[in-house]
Amino acid sequence: MSAHNALSSLFRIKPETQRGLSKLGIHSAEDLLRHFPSYFIQAAEASSVKSAEIGSQTTIYGTIHKVDVRRTFRGHTPLTEAKLKDDTGTLTLMWLNQPYIAKQLSEGITLRVEGKLSESSSGKRSMMNPRFEIIKGSVVPTGAHESLFTDEENKDVLSAPMYPASKGVSSQWIEHHIKSLLAKGYHNLIADPIPPEVLSELKLPSLSSALVWMHAPRSQSDYEVAKKRLAFDEIFTIQLMNYRERARAESEVTEKIIINKDNVDDFINTLPFPLTKGQQDAITSIFEDIERGIPMSRLLEGDVGSGKTIIAAITAYGLLTSSTLNKANHQVVIMAPTEILASQHFETFSKLFSNTSFEIGIITSSGCQKFPSKVWKDAPTDISRKQFLSWAANGTLSIIIGTHAVIQKSIDFNKLSYVIIDEQHRFGVRARHKLSKKSEVLPHLLSMTATPIPRTLALTLYGDLDLTILDELPPGRKPVITKLITPHERADMYTEIRETLERGEQCYVICPRIFEPDPAKERALLTKNVIEEAERLSKTDLNGYAIGVLHGKMKSPEKEAIMRDFDERRIQVLVATSVIEVGINVPNATRIIIEGAERFGLSQLHQLRGRVVRSSKQAMCYLVTDTSSESSIKRLQTLVDSANGFDLAERDLETRGAGELTGVKQSGLSDLAMEAIKNLKMIEVARTTARSVIDSDPELKGYPLLKEKVDTFSSRVHLE
Ligand code: ADP
Ligand code: MG
Repeated sequence: MSAHNALSSLFRIKPETQRGLSKLGIHSAEDLLRHFPSYFIQAAEASSVKSAEIGSQTTIYGTIHKVDVRRTFRGHTPLTEAKLKDDTGTLTLMWLNQPYIAKQLSEGITLRVEGKLSESSSGKRSMMNPRFEIIKGSVVPTGAHESLFTDEENKDVLSAPMYPASKGVSSQWIEHHIKSLLAKGYHNLIADPIPPEVLSELKLPSLSSALVWMHAPRSQSDYEVAKKRLAFDEIFTIQLMNYRERARAESEVTEKIIINKDNVDDFINTLPFPLTKGQQDAITSIFEDIERGIPMSRLLEGDVGSGKTIIAAITAYGLLTSSTLNKANHQVVIMAPTEILASQHFETFSKLFSNTSFEIGIITSSGCQKFPSKVWKDAPTDISRKQFLSWAANGTLSIIIGTHAVIQKSIDFNKLSYVIIDEQHRFGVRARHKLSKKSEVLPHLLSMTATPIPRTLALTLYGDLDLTILDELPPGRKPVITKLITPHERADMYTEIRETLERGEQCYVICPRIFEPDPAKERALLTKNVIEEAERLSKTDLNGYAIGVLHGKMKSPEKEAIMRDFDERRIQVLVATSVIEVGINVPNATRIIIEGAERFGLSQLHQLRGRVVRSSKQAMCYLVTDTSSESSIKRLQTLVDSANGFDLAERDLETRGAGELTGVKQSGLSDLAMEAIKNLKMIEVARTTARSVIDSDPELKGYPLLKEKVDTFSSRVHLE
């Protein structure tokens, strides 16, 4: 008997059920025991489709199948129709005159609906204009579990757990088989990776108790503590991974480098503006790191427009002009996520370094260039790939800028000392690993991001990096004006947009987010929206203007071409999904319309509006929403009132949870752990505990179970 036993060896399972289980990622007994309820329902609170009483107000939970908008039989009133399914039957939901509801619903999502149930003569059940709440992922809806255990007297009356299900595997099937595994004691067979002394110090239950409580809690507090325990496992694992990474980096020795501060000051004096205090501090920390003699690993977080590029340039210059024993010339690599961004960096660096003797190269999939050209001292020149490779390898090029192309196998460097990664924080460590194979010592790493992640969260997710936060913008920027637009204010908004376009400025239009469990389907729907919105605009409100589209189904060269057209003003209005979030800089784009604004997190909205604060022109952001929810309006209002990305991120973390923050989704954490990230004390404890474990045993030799967990997690995260 082992928890690794395949379920098919323990139970008789129909082929259809087997397929459903695989789809849910459940193969072994342990997998099933780790498949937790999304929420609990209490018999008193909710009914099933079949048992609900006709004509009375009821609450029902179910999954959405099929969403349609059609016209009512006689009139022109739009009618949104959706099927809600639970284990007992199907219910038709209908909303009159609210076509936008269809946009909020998609197949497969779980919904809690409240309304009056009716039944047709043929026995079909339906609800007209029900109130609804979308139940996300595996987060327990507060409404459901709060009411769950309040009745102290009756707390032994268990309510039903509701499991994420799939075709062929119902929630009840899962519940039944988990009960059977628990009864046979399979949960006791799963080895607990967390050392007992850590558990007792933190007053956390054993893994086997936690597993029982996740499925069949006897009280709210049992359930909370079980969730805490399982979230701790993940947060602890990620911390161990980070500290192990850091310990590995710090065990390497780099060349002793002494920065020549006078040179650097002269360079800074050539800039057309004084540095902000934040920029000066960042530069000081980076130089201290570089002079320490162990590889730097630093994350520079600064809001859009806070001036990170100049920090990259100044520190690169400092390193290139430093004194070292080894006389070979240093090289710096700067990696950007898109070709446009790489070209922008190439231009900026060419200007900044035009009075120095350092040569700069750029490599992207569309070709290579070098600055300066042999003939023109202030212009770049196209060079062949072969020429580029040879100049990178012999050290002629001191600064090498590029997209992912820079980490290709075929590129060799003479002496790569410093790697700067723009806008791709998770990628940083992996890119350095690849690049470090091309140099004798591990290069210093600076990872830059405009994603404002609250400090605590950054420490959790990127604990392998030291953190510098730039939280002020250079003086003299006009803050973006943000407006909330309700449906009847649309016409005025388009009038303003047309005036802006007439002045020669440009505009982004962002289409709403779609929540859809199947990513392929989600992409298809988003694409459809983008194309339809562009068509609608070109036929109506923005007729006569050059409109382009950008969406996730396009291949990168296609995307690059569109962005270039926009950058060079051949396109005036760019209709897109939120993919334009990353680093594009088109100073002439001064307006952004965000449709379905209530569907985005605050910090994501902030990122999006950051796209238009790129120049001294007054920028405007229109948050379009047809929501009637007071809390959504209030949340959007904070964006109108606050311009600070870090404040907004903190607020998102408070109100919507970590999953809403950009950059966190890719962290590999489960919803359970995301929820726990709000618990700063737990993070602190996980950090200090992880640190002391790694300090005493850097490679986790004495903790084979933990090591396995960390290795698995780390390969998953770094493979993304
Ligand atoms: P980001 O942090 O978003 O990458 P950039 O580095 O692109 O921001 O800087 C945005 C703009 O601000 C650039 O045009 C840059 O020249 C300018 N800038 C940077 N630092 C300062 C400063 N201290 N004072 C004035 N302008 C600055
Ligand atoms: Mg930047």
